[in-house]
Amino acid sequence: MAVIVHEDLCRGCKKCVKACPFEAITIEGKKAVIGLGCTQCGACVEVCPFGAIEKEAAEKETVDISQYHGVWVFAEQRGGVLMDVALELLGEGRRLADEIGTELCAVLLGENVEVLAEELFRYGADKVYLGQHPELVTYNTDAYTNVIYKAIREYKPEIVLLGATHIGRDLGPCLAVRCGTGLTADCTRLEIDPESKGLQQTRPAFGGNLMATIVCPNHRPQMSTVRPGVMQKLMPDETRSGEVVALKVEFADGEIRTKVLEIVRTMKETVKLTDAEIIVAGGRGLSDPEGFRLLEKLAKKLGGVVGASRAAVDAGWIDHSRQIGQTGTTVKPKIYIACGISGAIQHLAGMQNSGCIIAINKYEGAPIFEIADYGIVGDLYKVIPAILEALDLE
Ligand code: FAD
Ligand code: SF4
Ligand code: SF4
Repeated sequence: MAVIVHEDLCRGCKKCVKACPFEAITIEGKKAVIGLGCTQCGACVEVCPFGAIEKEAAEKETVDISQYHGVWVFAEQRGGVLMDVALELLGEGRRLADEIGTELCAVLLGENVEVLAEELFRYGADKVYLGQHPELVTYNTDAYTNVIYKAIREYKPEIVLLGATHIGRDLGPCLAVRCGTGLTADCTRLEIDPESKGLQQTRPAFGGNLMATIVCPNHRPQMSTVRPGVMQKLMPDETRSGEVVALKVEFADGEIRTKVLEIVRTMKETVKLTDAEIIVAGGRGLSDPEGFRLLEKLAKKLGGVVGASRAAVDAGWIDHSRQIGQTGTTVKPKIYIACGISGAIQHLAGMQNSGCIIAINKYEGAPIFEIADYGIVGDLYKVIPAILEALDLE
């Protein structure tokens, strides 16, 4: 599919230049020229008063889906350490692969990372596709996309799962576009249709007010991203092993358009909400950014970390990296203390699987009390100092 300009009709009026949200059109020699940044959104087609721009209809591509077999999990590693979400996806992938009656494979890219293959086998993989190259040490969109895309074309997996991390959210769409298939982001449930054996990908839609189940019947692979903390890891099985398949990795000149010059770690990375066993989260009920100082005191005393609702983040009281919920992080701590948080469905989406939920809210009808194991009705500015005092007495 392409967007083309009929030069004989173009009068150089520049209406399309202004209409293009991606600044992909320039005027050269009084004619519009569509550049590489074009996403084929079609906005320019609508505005051209002379009918000079046309979006060519996509050729109906037919894919022989019977050629595609196996469930693949992108085994994201950083600095030689596998991300937890990769192991969680192996747990889920194992279940899906067994249900289809196919193999579970991990795709591992990096340099000197072959040792990680053993860990992937222990957590459920039957096979590891291993790509090693100095350009793969740190994540790079072009390098990772090109290597995995070539592997997908060669080995034809039917399902590809990625963690909805910053890397997975970048890599997944690039792969889906290259493969000409769909991608369902932030899935919360994955099931196999018993009849078609297709993947049913469920995720919240319309602001979390309903759950949508999405299928990809005509294209392969079926691709999904899943947030960290949503799926369950298997217990590692020390007796498991599997096959390592080396991927041929070579890059042509100019194939990789970006270079990582330096990695700067920010404070945000020290907030490990997904790993925290205790989270003390604050919402709009704090009324003031200073309220988070009180929450930090309580979190410190309990050995936990501070989280927040979107309302508190939107108010600028705390960094977005602390946001819990549908558009923030999904967490599963042993104890979750919600302070001045009403319990909107989008917040619950990120914390309702916590082990024990304690809610402090001055309004006894707050929805958070419906899912709380313990509820304290009262002003958090009185309740939390009282808890701190009680803990000091211990
Ligand atoms: P409020 O709903 O305003 O609740 C404040 C609560 O504090 C009230 O229940 C009140 O009784 C209580 N309170 C007030 N003063 C005190 C006090 N002194 N002591 C004790 N209690 C007190 N929200 C998220 O959190 N995470 C998300 O990821 C997220 N994603 C979203 C995505 C979409 C597409 C949309 C549409 C919304 C999303 N939201 C998200 C927003 C969500 O709908 C709510 O608006 C938000 O969670 C409300 O935050 P809150 O509970 O802090 O504030
Ligand atoms: Fe040409 Fe149409 Fe663009 Fe005007 S809007 S510059 S006529 S393509
Ligand atoms: Fe720009 Fe969309 Fe037209 Fe492409 S199709 S040139 S992105 S307006």
